[in-house]
Amino acid sequence: NSSRIAIIGAGIAGLACATALRQAGFQVTLFDKSRGAGGRMSTRRGADWQCDHGAQYFTARNPEFRAEVSRWERAGVAAHWQLQLRGLDADGCSGGAPVERFVGVPRMSSIGAWLAADLVLHTGMAISALQREDNVWRLHVQDEGPLAHRYDMVVLAVPAPQAVPLLGQVAPLQAALAAGTNMAGCWAMMLEYAQPLALDFNAAFLNAGPLRWVARDSAKPGRSGRESWLLHASAEWSEAHIELDADSIAAQLLAAFITLGGQVPQRWSVHRWRYASTPQARNDVCLWEAGQGLGMCGDWLNGGTVEAAWLSGHALAQRIIAGPA
Ligand code: FAD
Repeated sequence: NSSRIAIIGAGIAGLACATALRQAGFQVTLFDKSRGAGGRMSTRRGADWQCDHGAQYFTARNPEFRAEVSRWERAGVAAHWQLQLRGLDADGCSGGAPVERFVGVPRMSSIGAWLAADLVLHTGMAISALQREDNVWRLHVQDEGPLAHRYDMVVLAVPAPQAVPLLGQVAPLQAALAAGTNMAGCWAMMLEYAQPLALDFNAAFLNAGPLRWVARDSAKPGRSGRESWLLHASAEWSEAHIELDADSIAAQLLAAFITLGGQVPQRWSVHRWRYASTPQARNDVCLWEAGQGLGMCGDWLNGGTVEAAWLSGHALAQRIIAGPA
């Protein structure tokens, strides 16, 4: 098959779709507005320090996804995370449910980077519009205009709110569907310490106050470098404070961490995820309009996790490969 496919978004959904299509012989080109692949499976890096500030870990309950994770493990870019987990709430502690958790090694962004190494990926390219003429697609790049290349099919592998402006003119029904899917933000705070903190847990879910999750990032498998902690605010708190300035966010999240036994860090930074989670993800798995050659995949169509996003991208590729019914 020599069909040319453009995939917009090189998060795990776009990468899964691209990998399967490429194996089936399609000519696949990925575009992403950021500097690298992986999307929300990302890591902030400094001198002798790093911190995963998006997805913290992932599950692999589906057998097909578990097989893919085994491939990543063999390549040395993923590992099982046997964490000391505490579910702390206002009244004390309760243990977390037993579930197999995996992380990217040596950092979460390693998985996207590894998958992208086999693919054609253009980074730093924000696609601003799609145009359909004479049964082919053209892509417009923000501040640059239309690309010369034409594509037989286009896949949108971006969060729902970011799909809306691209779908607007060319696929109003799909645009409305994406517009009807709410995604919640998340404030993340990264902390760097000279010495390990004397806390008796490496990760905890929290049910009270601004924080939802804290983790000793430097205790994940395959890490080296200085002590690193990650704090995630809850979706509700993040949404209520989404426009607040970074200093005020940091002050409140750090104060909450100190009540858990944390300390003032040597260095800190915050990151605002505008579209982190999908409170009510759809159950479509993926969407494919064969007549138009337009597909959509991503976590928001399938349950809001890394595993769901990979399965969505992989399923879309299978539908494209199957061809017209
Ligand atoms: P994304 O990873 O968002 O990829 C979309 C890509 O599209 C991005 O790279 C973006 O740059 C690009 N893009 C968007 N618009 C354009 C455009 N116009 N042009 C070009 N490129 C564009 N999941 C778990 O399983 N476990 C967790 O513990 C977990 N914790 C999380 C914590 C946080 C703070 C966040 C943010 C997410 C978390 N998730 C977690 C969710 C998980 O990260 C996502 O479900 C998954 O990574 C989504 O993958 P995706 O490919 O659908 O989207």
